[in-house]
Amino acid sequence: MASKTFEDVLFPGIDVQVKGVNDCSDVLVVEAVSTVRPGRCPNCRKQARRVHSTYQRTLEDRPLGSHRVTIRLRVRRYFCDRRSCSRTTFVEQVPGLSARYRRSGTGLLNLNS
Ligand SMILES: [Zn+2]
Repeated sequence: MASKTFEDVLFPGIDVQVKGVNDCSDVLVVEAVSTVRPGRCPNCRKQARRVHSTYQRTLEDRPLGSHRVTIRLRVRRYFCDRRSCSRTTFVEQVPGLSARYRRSGTGLLNLNS
């Protein structure tokens, strides 16, 4: 029987790849990157071609066994190259991710630059 990967458990059907897992006593720190293709500007829908920068989002998941789970996900910011567009950059959207890791009122989802 094939064992489940971290991707299966943490990101079912989501375009995210786990790069490494650090077991820090009672916390499991998962380093992950998004593998989605460059998206479209949410303003003008132009296909992105150039990466502006990357940054890390910290997500917390439900505990796995006795471990708390913290996910460090690297996501990309893109330029919008359409000159008439009022938006110069935008952050990629990972389909399914925001539904799974909903921004909660208790501040479980933090933006780190
Ligand atoms: Zn645009």
